Amino acid sequence: MTRHVDLRSDTVTQPTPEMREAMARAVVGDDGFGDDPTVRALEERFAEVVGKESALFVPSGVMGNQIAVRILTRPGDVIVAGKSQHVVSFEMGASARNASVQFALVEDSSGELGVDDVMEVVESEKDHQVAVAMVTVENTHMSAGGAPWDIEHLRTLARALGEKPLHMDGARLFNAAVATGESPRDIAASATTVMACLSKGLCAPVGSLLAGPTELMRAARVERKRLGGAMRQVGVLAAAGLVALDTMVERLAEDHARARRLGELFASAFPESGYDPATCRTNIVAVNHPQARQIVHELGQRGVWGDTIAPRRMRFVTHADVSDDDIDFVAEVLTHFTPAS
Ligand SMILES: *Cc1c(COP(=O)(O)O)cnc(C)c1O
Repeated sequence: MTRHVDLRSDTVTQPTPEMREAMARAVVGDDGFGDDPTVRALEERFAEVVGKESALFVPSGVMGNQIAVRILTRPGDVIVAGKSQHVVSFEMGASARNASVQFALVEDSSGELGVDDVMEVVESEKDHQVAVAMVTVENTHMSAGGAPWDIEHLRTLARALGEKPLHMDGARLFNAAVATGESPRDIAASATTVMACLSKGLCAPVGSLLAGPTELMRAARVERKRLGGAMRQVGVLAAAGLVALDTMVERLAEDHARARRLGELFASAFPESGYDPATCRTNIVAVNHPQARQIVHELGQRGVWGDTIAPRRMRFVTHADVSDDDIDFVAEVLTHFTPAS
Protein backbone atom coordinates (compact mmCIF):
# COMPACT_ATOMS: atom_id res chain seq x y z
CA MET A 1 0.00 0.00 0.00
CA THR A 2 1.22 3.50 -0.72
CA ARG A 3 2.04 5.71 2.22
CA HIS A 4 -0.74 7.73 3.78
CA VAL A 5 -1.12 10.28 6.55
CA ASP A 6 -4.50 10.17 8.26
CA LEU A 7 -5.59 13.74 9.04
CA ARG A 8 -9.33 13.04 8.94
CA SER A 9 -9.70 13.46 12.72
CA ASP A 10 -7.89 13.12 16.04
CA THR A 11 -10.39 10.34 16.83
CA VAL A 12 -8.31 7.93 14.70
CA THR A 13 -5.57 7.79 17.35
CA GLN A 14 -4.58 4.38 18.69
CA PRO A 15 -4.48 3.73 22.45
CA THR A 16 -0.91 3.88 23.78
CA PRO A 17 0.89 0.73 25.06
CA GLU A 18 0.55 2.12 28.59
CA MET A 19 -3.21 2.38 28.09
CA ARG A 20 -3.46 -1.20 26.88
CA GLU A 21 -1.53 -2.36 29.93
CA ALA A 22 -3.70 -0.35 32.31
CA MET A 23 -6.79 -1.76 30.60
CA ALA A 24 -5.56 -5.32 31.10
CA ARG A 25 -4.82 -4.70 34.77
CA ALA A 26 -7.91 -2.62 35.61
CA VAL A 27 -9.92 -3.55 38.70
CA VAL A 28 -13.55 -3.48 37.57
CA GLY A 29 -17.09 -3.97 38.87
CA ASP A 30 -20.67 -3.38 37.75
CA ASP A 31 -20.86 0.37 37.22
CA GLY A 32 -24.66 0.10 37.15
CA PHE A 33 -24.37 -0.53 40.91
CA GLY A 34 -21.57 2.02 41.31
CA ASP A 35 -19.19 -0.89 41.90
CA ASP A 36 -16.43 -0.05 39.44
CA PRO A 37 -13.54 1.56 41.36
CA THR A 38 -11.67 2.52 38.19
CA VAL A 39 -14.67 4.41 36.81
CA ARG A 40 -15.13 6.15 40.15
CA ALA A 41 -11.46 7.12 40.17
CA LEU A 42 -11.73 8.57 36.66
CA GLU A 43 -14.90 10.52 37.48
CA GLU A 44 -13.35 11.94 40.65
CA ARG A 45 -10.15 12.78 38.85
CA PHE A 46 -11.93 14.63 36.05
CA ALA A 47 -14.20 16.51 38.47
CA GLU A 48 -11.04 17.66 40.25
CA VAL A 49 -9.28 18.67 37.02
CA VAL A 50 -12.21 20.83 35.87
CA GLY A 51 -13.11 22.06 39.36
CA LYS A 52 -16.65 20.66 39.51
CA GLU A 53 -18.35 18.74 42.32
CA SER A 54 -19.07 15.61 40.39
CA ALA A 55 -18.55 13.90 37.02
CA LEU A 56 -20.02 11.14 34.90
CA PHE A 57 -18.25 8.80 32.47
CA VAL A 58 -20.19 8.50 29.20
CA PRO A 59 -19.60 6.48 26.01
CA SER A 60 -19.26 9.47 23.68
CA GLY A 61 -19.04 13.22 23.46
CA VAL A 62 -22.40 13.35 21.76
CA MET A 63 -23.98 11.56 24.70
CA GLY A 64 -22.28 13.98 27.10
CA ASN A 65 -23.77 16.93 25.25
CA GLN A 66 -27.16 15.27 24.94
CA ILE A 67 -27.31 14.51 28.65
CA ALA A 68 -26.44 18.15 29.40
CA VAL A 69 -29.28 19.25 27.13
CA ARG A 70 -31.72 16.91 28.85
CA ILE A 71 -30.84 17.95 32.40
CA LEU A 72 -30.84 21.68 31.66
CA THR A 73 -33.99 22.04 29.52
CA ARG A 74 -37.62 21.08 29.28
CA PRO A 75 -39.41 20.27 26.01
CA GLY A 76 -40.12 23.44 24.03
CA ASP A 77 -37.26 25.40 25.57
CA VAL A 78 -34.72 27.34 23.56
CA ILE A 79 -30.97 26.76 23.64
CA VAL A 80 -28.77 29.61 22.48
CA ALA A 81 -25.88 28.19 20.46
CA GLY A 82 -23.40 29.05 17.74
CA LYS A 83 -24.58 28.24 14.22
CA SER A 84 -21.90 25.70 13.48
CA GLN A 85 -21.45 24.08 16.87
CA HIS A 86 -21.25 20.31 17.10
CA VAL A 87 -24.43 20.09 19.17
CA VAL A 88 -26.27 22.01 16.43
CA SER A 89 -24.88 20.64 13.19
CA PHE A 90 -23.03 17.39 13.82
CA GLU A 91 -25.30 15.39 16.15
CA MET A 92 -27.95 14.35 13.64
CA GLY A 93 -30.61 16.57 15.20
CA ALA A 94 -30.27 14.71 18.51
CA SER A 95 -31.30 17.66 20.68
CA ALA A 96 -34.65 17.94 18.92
CA ARG A 97 -35.16 14.21 18.94
CA ASN A 98 -34.00 13.52 22.49
CA ALA A 99 -35.07 16.64 24.32
CA SER A 100 -37.67 18.35 22.08
CA VAL A 101 -35.84 21.64 22.26
CA GLN A 102 -35.11 24.25 19.63
CA PHE A 103 -32.02 26.31 18.97
CA ALA A 104 -31.68 30.07 18.66
CA LEU A 105 -28.54 30.37 16.58
CA VAL A 106 -25.99 33.15 16.76
CA GLU A 107 -22.92 33.90 14.68
CA ASP A 108 -19.85 31.84 15.63
CA SER A 109 -17.46 31.91 12.67
CA SER A 110 -14.62 33.01 14.97
CA GLY A 111 -15.46 30.18 17.36
CA GLU A 112 -16.75 32.60 20.00
CA LEU A 113 -20.25 33.93 20.58
CA GLY A 114 -20.85 37.66 20.88
CA VAL A 115 -22.13 38.49 24.36
CA ASP A 116 -24.60 41.01 22.91
CA ASP A 117 -25.87 38.47 20.37
CA VAL A 118 -26.51 35.95 23.14
CA MET A 119 -28.12 38.46 25.50
CA GLU A 120 -30.41 39.72 22.74
CA VAL A 121 -31.98 36.25 22.64
CA VAL A 122 -31.92 35.71 26.40
CA GLU A 123 -33.64 39.03 27.10
CA SER A 124 -36.38 38.43 24.54
CA GLU A 125 -37.96 36.15 27.16
CA LYS A 126 -39.29 39.36 28.67
CA ASP A 127 -40.95 40.22 25.35
CA HIS A 128 -43.38 37.31 25.09
CA GLN A 129 -40.77 35.07 23.49
CA VAL A 130 -39.99 31.49 24.37
CA ALA A 131 -37.89 30.76 27.47
CA VAL A 132 -34.16 30.33 27.04
CA ALA A 133 -33.11 27.37 29.17
CA MET A 134 -29.40 27.39 28.52
CA VAL A 135 -26.51 28.62 26.41
CA THR A 136 -23.82 26.39 24.91
CA VAL A 137 -20.29 27.25 23.87
CA GLU A 138 -17.73 25.07 22.13
CA ASN A 139 -14.11 25.24 23.32
CA THR A 140 -12.13 24.65 21.23
CA HIS A 141 -14.54 25.34 18.42
CA MET A 142 -14.15 22.57 15.86
CA SER A 143 -15.52 24.07 12.67
CA ALA A 144 -13.85 27.42 13.32
CA GLY A 145 -10.56 25.53 13.00
CA GLY A 146 -10.07 24.50 16.62
CA ALA A 147 -10.31 28.06 17.92
CA PRO A 148 -9.94 28.39 21.71
CA TRP A 149 -12.07 30.92 23.58
CA ASP A 150 -10.40 33.90 25.16
CA ILE A 151 -10.91 33.28 28.88
CA GLU A 152 -11.90 36.89 29.64
CA HIS A 153 -14.56 36.76 26.94
CA LEU A 154 -15.87 33.56 28.47
CA ARG A 155 -16.02 35.21 31.90
CA THR A 156 -17.85 38.20 30.47
CA LEU A 157 -20.44 35.92 28.89
CA ALA A 158 -20.89 33.94 32.13
CA ARG A 159 -21.31 37.17 34.13
CA ALA A 160 -23.92 38.46 31.70
CA LEU A 161 -25.84 35.19 31.95
CA GLY A 162 -26.00 35.26 35.75
CA GLU A 163 -28.02 32.22 36.85
CA LYS A 164 -28.76 31.04 33.31
CA PRO A 165 -26.95 27.70 32.79
CA LEU A 166 -23.96 27.58 30.44
CA HIS A 167 -22.83 24.27 28.97
CA MET A 168 -19.33 23.98 27.58
CA ASP A 169 -18.79 21.44 24.82
CA GLY A 170 -15.13 20.96 25.66
CA ALA A 171 -14.59 17.94 23.44
CA ARG A 172 -11.13 19.50 23.02
CA LEU A 173 -10.99 21.36 26.35
CA PHE A 174 -7.41 20.19 26.93
CA ASN A 175 -6.33 21.58 23.57
CA ALA A 176 -7.83 24.90 24.66
CA ALA A 177 -5.92 24.72 27.95
CA VAL A 178 -2.59 23.91 26.31
CA ALA A 179 -3.04 26.59 23.63
CA THR A 180 -4.02 29.40 26.00
CA GLY A 181 -1.93 28.41 29.03
CA GLU A 182 -5.06 28.59 31.20
CA SER A 183 -5.93 25.63 33.44
CA PRO A 184 -8.91 23.42 32.53
CA ARG A 185 -10.32 24.42 35.92
CA ASP A 186 -10.17 28.14 35.17
CA ILE A 187 -11.62 27.64 31.69
CA ALA A 188 -14.45 25.47 33.00
CA ALA A 189 -15.18 27.83 35.91
CA SER A 190 -17.48 29.89 33.67
CA ALA A 191 -19.58 26.86 32.78
CA THR A 192 -22.32 25.11 34.75
CA THR A 193 -21.55 21.81 33.02
CA VAL A 194 -18.54 20.82 30.96
CA MET A 195 -17.96 17.88 28.63
CA ALA A 196 -14.56 16.68 27.47
CA CYS A 197 -13.52 13.79 25.21
CA LEU A 198 -10.80 11.31 26.12
CA SER A 199 -11.00 9.65 22.71
CA LYS A 200 -9.64 12.46 20.54
CA GLY A 201 -6.21 14.03 21.00
CA LEU A 202 -5.80 12.24 24.34
CA CYS A 203 -5.79 8.87 22.50
CA ALA A 204 -8.07 6.82 24.76
CA PRO A 205 -10.04 4.29 22.71
CA VAL A 206 -13.51 5.30 23.99
CA GLY A 207 -15.13 7.72 26.36
CA SER A 208 -16.01 11.24 27.41
CA LEU A 209 -16.84 12.90 30.70
CA LEU A 210 -19.51 15.33 31.81
CA ALA A 211 -19.01 17.33 35.00
CA GLY A 212 -21.04 19.79 37.04
CA PRO A 213 -22.83 20.29 40.37
CA THR A 214 -23.69 17.07 42.26
CA GLU A 215 -27.46 17.57 41.99
CA LEU A 216 -27.26 17.92 38.22
CA MET A 217 -24.93 14.96 37.88
CA ARG A 218 -27.42 12.83 39.81
CA ALA A 219 -29.99 13.71 37.16
CA ALA A 220 -27.35 13.12 34.48
CA ARG A 221 -26.88 9.55 35.72
CA VAL A 222 -30.59 8.91 35.19
CA GLU A 223 -30.51 10.43 31.69
CA ARG A 224 -27.46 8.34 30.80
CA LYS A 225 -29.45 5.24 31.74
CA ARG A 226 -32.44 6.43 29.68
CA LEU A 227 -30.21 6.88 26.66
CA GLY A 228 -28.76 3.41 27.08
CA GLY A 229 -25.34 4.70 28.08
CA ALA A 230 -25.01 3.02 31.48
CA MET A 231 -22.26 0.44 31.16
CA ARG A 232 -21.04 -2.45 33.31
CA GLN A 233 -17.37 -3.47 33.85
CA VAL A 234 -16.39 -0.31 32.04
CA GLY A 235 -13.32 0.23 34.21
CA VAL A 236 -11.40 -1.35 31.32
CA LEU A 237 -12.14 1.86 29.40
CA ALA A 238 -11.82 4.20 32.36
CA ALA A 239 -8.33 2.81 32.98
CA ALA A 240 -7.25 4.08 29.57
CA GLY A 241 -8.94 7.39 30.39
CA LEU A 242 -6.85 7.81 33.54
CA VAL A 243 -3.68 7.23 31.52
CA ALA A 244 -4.96 9.78 28.99
CA LEU A 245 -5.40 12.45 31.68
CA ASP A 246 -2.06 11.57 33.29
CA THR A 247 0.17 11.35 30.26
CA MET A 248 -1.40 12.79 27.12
CA VAL A 249 -2.31 16.39 27.89
CA GLU A 250 1.05 18.17 27.68
CA ARG A 251 1.97 16.54 24.38
CA LEU A 252 -1.00 18.22 22.65
CA ALA A 253 1.42 21.13 22.14
CA GLU A 254 3.21 18.99 19.55
CA ASP A 255 -0.03 18.52 17.62
CA HIS A 256 -0.55 22.27 17.69
CA ALA A 257 2.95 22.97 16.34
CA ARG A 258 2.45 20.46 13.53
CA ALA A 259 -0.97 21.86 12.69
CA ARG A 260 0.53 25.33 12.41
CA ARG A 261 3.07 24.01 9.93
CA LEU A 262 0.33 22.18 8.07
CA GLY A 263 -1.66 25.42 7.96
CA GLU A 264 1.28 27.24 6.42
CA LEU A 265 1.59 24.52 3.78
CA PHE A 266 -2.10 24.78 2.88
CA ALA A 267 -1.97 28.58 2.82
CA SER A 268 0.82 28.51 0.26
CA ALA A 269 -0.62 25.62 -1.77
CA PHE A 270 -4.03 27.33 -1.98
CA PRO A 271 -3.47 31.10 -1.79
CA GLU A 272 -6.91 31.61 -3.39
CA SER A 273 -8.46 30.18 -0.20
CA GLY A 274 -7.45 33.24 1.80
CA TYR A 275 -6.51 30.90 4.65
CA ASP A 276 -4.45 32.58 7.37
CA PRO A 277 -2.28 30.04 9.21
CA ALA A 278 -2.03 32.42 12.19
CA THR A 279 -5.66 31.48 12.93
CA CYS A 280 -4.52 27.90 13.56
CA ARG A 281 -4.00 27.84 17.33
CA THR A 282 -4.63 24.19 18.15
CA ASN A 283 -4.74 21.00 16.07
CA ILE A 284 -7.25 21.74 13.29
CA VAL A 285 -6.65 23.28 9.87
CA ALA A 286 -10.01 24.23 8.32
CA VAL A 287 -9.76 25.85 4.88
CA ASN A 288 -12.48 27.30 2.66
CA HIS A 289 -12.12 26.45 -1.00
CA PRO A 290 -14.63 26.28 -3.87
CA GLN A 291 -13.21 22.86 -4.81
CA ALA A 292 -12.87 21.54 -1.25
CA ARG A 293 -14.59 18.23 -1.89
CA GLN A 294 -12.52 17.50 -4.95
CA ILE A 295 -9.28 18.51 -3.28
CA VAL A 296 -9.97 16.20 -0.35
CA HIS A 297 -10.71 13.39 -2.79
CA GLU A 298 -7.58 13.93 -4.86
CA LEU A 299 -5.26 14.48 -1.90
CA GLY A 300 -6.67 11.26 -0.46
CA GLN A 301 -5.58 9.40 -3.59
CA ARG A 302 -2.08 10.77 -3.04
CA GLY A 303 -2.01 9.63 0.59
CA VAL A 304 -3.06 12.81 2.41
CA TRP A 305 -6.36 11.98 4.10
CA GLY A 306 -8.63 14.82 5.16
CA ASP A 307 -12.36 15.46 5.21
CA THR A 308 -14.95 18.11 4.44
CA ILE A 309 -17.08 19.67 7.19
CA ALA A 310 -19.24 21.89 4.95
CA PRO A 311 -19.80 22.15 1.18
CA ARG A 312 -16.74 24.33 0.55
CA ARG A 313 -14.73 23.74 3.69
CA MET A 314 -12.06 21.08 4.18
CA ARG A 315 -10.47 19.97 7.41
CA PHE A 316 -7.16 18.37 8.38
CA VAL A 317 -6.43 17.41 11.99
CA THR A 318 -3.12 16.58 13.65
CA HIS A 319 -2.82 14.06 16.47
CA ALA A 320 -0.42 11.75 18.31
CA ASP A 321 -0.06 9.38 15.37
CA VAL A 322 1.14 12.15 13.01
CA SER A 323 4.89 12.83 13.05
CA ASP A 324 7.12 15.61 11.70
CA ASP A 325 8.08 13.20 8.98
CA ASP A 326 4.41 12.82 8.05
CA ILE A 327 4.13 16.60 7.70
CA ASP A 328 7.20 16.50 5.42
CA PHE A 329 5.34 13.96 3.32
CA VAL A 330 2.29 16.26 3.13
CA ALA A 331 4.60 19.13 2.11
CA GLU A 332 5.98 16.97 -0.68
CA VAL A 333 2.50 16.01 -1.92
CA LEU A 334 1.27 19.62 -1.82
CA THR A 335 4.29 20.88 -3.76
CA HIS A 336 3.19 18.89 -6.80
CA PHE A 337 -0.54 19.27 -6.33
CA THR A 338 -3.09 21.04 -8.49
CA PRO A 339 -6.68 19.84 -8.42
CA ALA A 340 -8.00 18.59 -11.78
CA SER A 341 -10.77 21.09 -12.60
C1 LIG B 1 -16.14 15.03 18.49
C2 LIG B 1 -16.94 16.11 19.09
C3 LIG B 1 -18.06 15.81 19.86
C4 LIG B 1 -18.62 14.41 20.00
O1 LIG B 1 -17.77 13.44 20.42
P1 LIG B 1 -18.01 11.90 20.02
O2 LIG B 1 -17.22 11.20 21.05
O3 LIG B 1 -17.52 11.75 18.63
O4 LIG B 1 -19.47 11.61 20.16
C5 LIG B 1 -18.74 16.86 20.44
N1 LIG B 1 -18.33 18.12 20.27
C6 LIG B 1 -17.26 18.44 19.53
C7 LIG B 1 -16.87 19.87 19.39
C8 LIG B 1 -16.54 17.45 18.90
O5 LIG B 1 -15.49 17.78 18.13
